[in-house]
Amino acid sequence: MRRRIVAGNWKMNGSKDLVQQLVGDIREQVAGFDERVKRALDVIIVPPALYVDSVVSQGGSELATGIQNVGQWQSGAYTGEVSSDMARDMGCQYVLVGHSERRQLFGESDDVVAQKIKCVLDSGLTAVLCVGETLEEREAGEAERVVAGQIQQGLADVSAGQWSRVVVAYEPVWAIGTGKTATAEDAQAMHAEIRGVLEQMNAPSEDVSILYGGSVKADNAAALFAEPDIDGGLIGGASLKAEEFVSICRSFPVDA
Ligand code: PEP
Repeated sequence: MRRRIVAGNWKMNGSKDLVQQLVGDIREQVAGFDERVKRALDVIIVPPALYVDSVVSQGGSELATGIQNVGQWQSGAYTGEVSSDMARDMGCQYVLVGHSERRQLFGESDDVVAQKIKCVLDSGLTAVLCVGETLEEREAGEAERVVAGQIQQGLADVSAGQWSRVVVAYEPVWAIGTGKTATAEDAQAMHAEIRGVLEQMNAPSEDVSILYGGSVKADNAAALFAEPDIDGGLIGGASLKAEEFVSICRSFPVDA
């Protein structure tokens, strides 16, 4: 059974005060959601690594915690890196892997992404694999091929028993932080493609949650979440405002 998920990626933003205020506000409002909504929805806060501990304790049972990146090793002489075992030790449940900012600014290849996915799954955590095409790739008609390649390579080593801990986030690079969002129809078409790719990989594709990310806001989330293959959102900028983020969490169709 796939889950509905709304994950807030704070990127390199935040402070001790913000954690206390924002996580406190979001938690309080999520605690007031209808029981049926709470059962079907995972709300995840993904702060910078230094604040994971505070988010875990502030988030209580209403909010899950993720980390934005881990190294492709579990321990050793890798100055500055943090491992997925450490993330689990600190109470994280989710790890973003292969966010486009990591791919573009830090040169993360699909091979490194695959190694990180393996570490995350071996640690018992849930991996959120981020994929998406650039504007040039979309305009060249390459979007589907690029996204399929990122999924096939990133998830190449997932074993049968690990698929229940895999989430895919489709984030067209041209929509991240730009205010431009894919139309609900275009996003749905890509999500259906992704499910097809997962099917070809012998994954239980109907059970894998596929999130959309890229300038999701309170005023466009409902249209996106109404699509049959869009199971939630990975939210950047709008996750730093409690009202906006909570309103995105409330944007799923009521009866589904
Ligand atoms: C992101 O960082 O994953 C993201 C989708 O950012 P934004 O919502 O700001 O476009």
